[in-house]
Order: sequence, then structure tokens, then C-alpha cells
Amino acid sequence: MSDLHEETTGAERRSNFLEEIIENSIREGNARIQTRFPPEPNGYLHIGHAKSICLNFGLAKKYGGRCNLRFDDTNPVKEDVEYVDSIKEDVRWLGFDWAEEHYASDYFDQLYAWAEDLIRKGKAYVDDQTQEEIRLTRGTVTVPGKESPWRNRSAEENLDLFRRMKAGEFADGEKVLRAKIDMGHPNMLLRDPIMYRIIHTEHHRTGNKWKIYPMYDFAHGQSDSIERITHSICTLEFDVHRPLYDWFIRELEIYPSHQYEFARLNLTYTMMSKRKLLQLVQEGLVSGWDDPRMPTVCALRRRGYTPESVRAFAERVGVAKRDNVIDLGLLEFCVREDLNKRAERRMAVLKPLKVVITNYPEGKTEWTECVNNPEDPAAGARKVPFSREIYIERDDFMEEPPKKYYRLSPGKEVRLRYSYIIRCDNIIKDTNGEVIELHCTYDEASKGGGSSDGRKVKGIIHWVSAPHAVPAEIRLFDRLFLKESPDDVEEGKTFKDYLNPDSLVTVNGYLEPALADAVPGDRFQFERLGYFCKDKDSAPEKAVFNRTVTLKDTWAKIASKE
Ligand code: ATP
Ligand code: MG
Repeated sequence: MSDLHEETTGAERRSNFLEEIIENSIREGNARIQTRFPPEPNGYLHIGHAKSICLNFGLAKKYGGRCNLRFDDTNPVKEDVEYVDSIKEDVRWLGFDWAEEHYASDYFDQLYAWAEDLIRKGKAYVDDQTQEEIRLTRGTVTVPGKESPWRNRSAEENLDLFRRMKAGEFADGEKVLRAKIDMGHPNMLLRDPIMYRIIHTEHHRTGNKWKIYPMYDFAHGQSDSIERITHSICTLEFDVHRPLYDWFIRELEIYPSHQYEFARLNLTYTMMSKRKLLQLVQEGLVSGWDDPRMPTVCALRRRGYTPESVRAFAERVGVAKRDNVIDLGLLEFCVREDLNKRAERRMAVLKPLKVVITNYPEGKTEWTECVNNPEDPAAGARKVPFSREIYIERDDFMEEPPKKYYRLSPGKEVRLRYSYIIRCDNIIKDTNGEVIELHCTYDEASKGGGSSDGRKVKGIIHWVSAPHAVPAEIRLFDRLFLKESPDDVEEGKTFKDYLNPDSLVTVNGYLEPALADAVPGDRFQFERLGYFCKDKDSAPEKAVFNRTVTLKDTWAKIASKE
């Protein structure tokens, strides 16, 4: 973990291999840089997509180029406008703006015309086999595939059948259009890949116009070419698709875009497959796509992540050529570092214990000016009230403390942050023996430092004045999965078996009154507790706050103790 930080915090980061490729092409006189981010609108964007967004938009920006947003909407069955809108919102939130907005579906007419061109050239044919038969006759890596009995139809017959497919004369699965390449090719993807399949489903943009839809391989490279993309960047698993990408571009004699692959982002304790994330949402295992425990961009936003922290994370992760797994702690480190600079400090008590300061005048209130952010003088100050009754954190009191316990215990003293030293004189318990209230006395000369006789007190705890306190529901999150790699599912289990039952703990606490004006999305550091963000579930009578991240990496501590 610490290696990771050091590697990237020192001098300026070494340029990644994609930057080298671009710099080489600029040196060779190809100065125009055009990238694209091509999401399929079948789910919400996750942190892996955010990496890809930062990379594609970042490269365009760095080299004076342009980056398009293209919706890869070639499968009407899984796609929806809800997703299109959320994707645009997330890209903008991350701080990027696209040069042009496109939809693969806008190219359906052009793609169709190109498919007819290939048929005329004898490079594509209509196959009557079912997709299952096609799969079974593809052969294996060591055994060549079997040619379809329909492979040698005439161009005229193929054209006629393909047009009838388009007209909707056939049912789903009855026919497909295949590229005629080589059933013995060592790359299985070149064994007459499917170009079009019949789908009688309404498309969210083209309605019922199309009964046939292009496959990814016959849409992606062609869309890149139409938009004159110079660097088509995708994740490693697409490297086997590259020969096919190039084959279509060559046979169609269109603008030669090039595909480059980088390692997808994987994070420990995190699952990123959209299909599985959708399952979490649909089965109610999380409250929605933006449940703050999800790895989606909208969930990170709701949880209190800043766009700057996500961009910093993407930068630190860098661009790898080989698959790897990044420690989730690095993402948390990035948000902690960013919020330390920008979040105002406040006091809040999560698990309250009432303290009565018996020698403090009843009805008196003292307002103390407290600095909002020691890291940022421009953040100013606010006033914090102190009175006879306060709340402290239950965990800051122990009836029978171990050695070196510097917080409050019977007969011992502690300093209240920004305020007085108090001593615990009496413990009030309920009939079950549970401590419900403490009676303390304060040292009047100890306000804000010092004491009546110069003695020092080691422990400092946070607190909230009881009559001024704002009640709040506070949601404390932990990792959603207990397993470091929830995608590696053992036999007889599903990823759901690895869900962390304690990933959400809700407590009812109290906030200092300055937090009464906070609006959803506002971020704060609650002293000693972590960074928090006001949630959209807040109501006028009840504030709700999410803990973005703790102040320290608690998991690293646990791990190092083991
Ligand atoms: P999923 O498998 O979760 O559905 P996907 O790759 O199918 O993801 P797309 O919408 O097709 O999702 O992805 C849009 C872009 O984001 C693609 O260029 C893809 O390579 C990139 N991308 C997706 N996941 C990651 C990841 N984990 N790390 C980096 N880039 C990613
Ligand atoms: Mg995809």
C-alpha cells in the first residue's frame, strides 16, 4: 500500500505507454488526437468507467485533442434512456465535457449499407443455422471449425435474404449475417463472426425501425472510423478482437482507427460487473444504484467523494498493460487527502452519553469561535456553544479503564476540545446497570488551554452542547463484501455469500448547531470521526449524514495486527 503511494507521490509521474504512443504519432506528423468514451447504456457508471473517462478525456486534453461521448447502444434488450441520462450526469460531474455526443444507433443506416457492401464483395453471408449450431461448429483452439452449409450462397441470394431480415420477415434467431473469413483461423473470433442478428425489440432511440441489430464487432470499429477516432482505447480483453476490428476497416476501406488496450481497473473488496450490480439493486440487497456502498459514480458522489479525489485516484492508479488489483485503501486515501484540504471541521457525537457539569451555571451559554479548517484560512470560523449539559461519545468514557486510557473515567480528567477540562465525579446508571449519565465538574481557568494550577491533561475529546444539539441519523459504511475478490466465487456459492452483513450501521447522534444549515451534498470533517456528507434522505426535522471515510485507514491497522 505505502509503496503504491510513494511510487506516485514523488517527482512528476512517468508518462504511461499510451502517452508514449501518442507522442510518437505526434512526432510522426499525426498531430490530430481524437478519443472517445463508449459506454453501453445498460447500467450506471462505476469507478472502472471513471478510470476510462479520466484516461480518454485526459489524453485528449493533454494533447490538444478532442474526446467524444458515444453511447454503444446496439442491444435494445438491455438498454434504456435512464442510463443515458445518468452517464451524462456522471461524466460532467467528473469534470469533463465531450466534444460531440453520438449514438451507435445513429450509424445503423451506414452500418447496414456497409454490410450490403461486404455481401456484394462476397465477404458476408446469411446463415440459417441457429446461434447454438454456429457455436457448436466453431471448433476449438486446436480444432478448426466447420463451414456452414449456407456459406456459399450467391451474393444475390444473400442480399435478398438480408433485406428480408431487415424487413422483419424472420423471427428472432432464424437467421444471422456472418462475415466470411476463415473457419480454420487460429483466432476463434475470425471464424466467420456474426455481424447481425434479428431482434424484434423496440429500441430506446430508433423505436421499431430495426429488426436487425449489429454485433459489437461490426459496430464499434465502424463507429470509431465514422468519428475519425485516432486512438480507440479499450480494456485488455478486447485485444483478441483487434484483428477483427482491423479486418472490417480494411475490407470496407474506411478511415483506419486503431485500437489500443490497457488493463481494466480492479479493486479489492469490490465487484464491478454491471450485470451483478444490477442484481444487487433488483434484489434489494442495496437501496439503489446510488447506495453509498456501491462502486458506482453516483454512489461515490452521494457518499461524499469529490470529483477531484476520483480523478486523483485515476491518476495514481496509472495505466497498466497487465491485469492487476488495486487496494481499495488507495481510493479512500485519495478522498481523505482531498477532503482534508476542503472539508470544514465540525463536532458531532455519534453514540451520545449525557454529561452534566454540576458546577457550571444553569442557563448559561458561552459561544467560542472555532476555526473551520486549519488547512484553509479562507474557510473562516464559526461559533460553537458550550453549556451545563453536553453529549460526549460513549466510547470516550470507561468505568474501568485500562492503563494509558487518556479519555474520561471515574475521578479522571479530560479536555473538551476548544473548551474546559472536566473531571468525572459521579456515574448515573439505569436499573440494568448501564451508564446513562455522568456528573462532572469543570475547571473554570482551563478554557481553551491551560488550567488553574498549570497541570496538563493528555486526552482531548469532542462534544456537543445538549440544548443546542441538532439530532441526526448517521450512516456508517463498511466494505460491501468481506472477500477481497468477490468475483472469484467458490463452488456452490454466489457472490451474495460474500456480502458483509455489517456494511451499513445506522446510529442516531447529535451535531453542533452550525450543521443545521447544511444542505444535501455538503461535506464536513466531524472531528475525530471521519469525513461526512449530508444525504438526500434528509428531511427538515431529521438530518441524515453519510460517513464518506474514516480519518485513518482502520483496515490497514487491523491487517497489520493480524
Ligand atoms: P461491464 O462489464 O461492467 O458491463 P463494460 O465494459 O461492458 O462493463 P461499457 O459500458 O461497455 O461497460 O464500458 C465503457 C467503457 O469503459 C469501455 O471502453 C470499457 O472498456 C471501459 N471500462 C469498463 N469497465 C472498466 C474497468 N473496470 N476499468 C477500466 N475501464 C473500464
Ligand atoms: Mg461492454
